[in-house]
Amino acid sequence: MAYQPQVVSAEIVSNNPKNGLFEMVVKLKDRTHCRLTFEKDAATGSARVTTVNRLLKEPCPICRKDFECHCMGRFKEEISAQALQLAGTPTA
Ligand SMILES: [Zn+2]
Repeated sequence: MAYQPQVVSAEIVSNNPKNGLFEMVVKLKDRTHCRLTFEKDAATGSARVTTVNRLLKEPCPICRKDFECHCMGRFKEEISAQALQLAGTPTA
């Protein structure tokens, strides 16, 4: 069965209006935590995800490793779309 990330909470943890970069920490339903890095387009104000890193609080829900893996990278578009819906894009 394909993994389907479900974001239950998202919080903007840092924002740099100068370069348009901001970070979010998200929590998934399966208790996975991830840190997402976004890049905001100055002209359009739309955010684009650049990286997703799983925080090592729980084993990976996909490969079950409790150390770094790259599984979440395959879901970064899905995770970031849900995170932006929950937390929005920083305005300043
Ligand atoms: Zn994994």
